[in-house]
Amino acid sequence: KLHNTILELKGNIRVFCRVRPMLPDDGASSEASVICYPTSTEALGRGIDLLQSAGQKHQFSFDKVFTHESSQQEVFVEISQLVQSALDGYKVCIFAYGQTGSGKTYTMMGRPETPDEKGLIPRSLEQIFQSSQSLLSQGWKYKMQASMLEIYNETIRDLLSTNRASNVDNGKQYAIKHDANGNAHVSDLTIVDVCSLKEVSSLLRQAAQSRSVGKTHMNEQSSRSHFVFTLRIFGHNESTDQQVQGILNLIDLAGSERLSKSGSTGDRLKETQAINKSLSSLSDVIFSLAKKEDHVPFRNSKLTYLLQPCLGGDSKTLMFVNISPDPSSVGESLCSLRFAARVN
Ligand code: ADP
Ligand code: MG
Repeated sequence: KLHNTILELKGNIRVFCRVRPMLPDDGASSEASVICYPTSTEALGRGIDLLQSAGQKHQFSFDKVFTHESSQQEVFVEISQLVQSALDGYKVCIFAYGQTGSGKTYTMMGRPETPDEKGLIPRSLEQIFQSSQSLLSQGWKYKMQASMLEIYNETIRDLLSTNRASNVDNGKQYAIKHDANGNAHVSDLTIVDVCSLKEVSSLLRQAAQSRSVGKTHMNEQSSRSHFVFTLRIFGHNESTDQQVQGILNLIDLAGSERLSKSGSTGDRLKETQAINKSLSSLSDVIFSLAKKEDHVPFRNSKLTYLLQPCLGGDSKTLMFVNISPDPSSVGESLCSLRFAARVN
């Protein structure tokens, strides 16, 4: 692999934690905060404590902890090398995990129209197109392809299909197949050649549109599905005849909140089961990879089967665990931190 500058910390799986700021709708400001950052220099930027009302303190540490004060730029700086490695031919997955309202979409997408608040997806794409331009002088030419899909109830939806009605209704299966080279393909999925940031930005808007139009209760429904953005990168150096193929997957996961099992029936129960299944499969897969187990249960969910070629091997995985500081979310925050600690 070429111009590789990635820090190999410990294996290829890293976990970052990000706590969002308090919002006006969160618990009363007089309530004590439940999130603390250790001040010891050793734990600085890596530790997080969660205080439960009973006075119980739970301590966690991750590869990096971003506080409510961390800006989008500060977060991006920590992942920019990982993004860069996709241009070097690595397969990269960046996930955002957490309960609904914890800041997953803010972290991944942010507010693309406000420069300071752009999230990781627009910043990563900016960097990729800039770098690919500057590598031209070294003989590198890149071709890129984008696809965007949603996994809802273990069913794939193509977010770039121009024929939205057919996308929902004509019974396309969007089956996942793995080819002899170990690449995953989704049959019938729209894959678009992209040559500029402008092109891919407009596809992102199209995908957002498709997500919201396809669903009646957009906010509720989008939190029940996984959003998967994939950029395939083909690099060829004309002077040395070297070739690289990298993939960047950026994934905004479905909300991890545990919905009360007794209260959910019918469609809601089916949704809950589908989300639980795919999030626990993801955790099982990352856990087995981290433990270097022989059997990795990729086939247990659509998400892990789709991403199988980009998880494990020499691919690189980063999981953000997003945390809400709202005191009423302390139970969910504890679950999310435990989930992340398991895969860390
Ligand atoms: P999720 O996607 O996990 O459901 P969102 O990303 O939609 O959560 O975040 C919930 C709310 O909190 C949104 O209004 C979002 O703009 C805001 N928010 C999240 N993270 C931050 C942050 N780091 N700084 C400022 N606002 C944030
Ligand atoms: Mg969201």
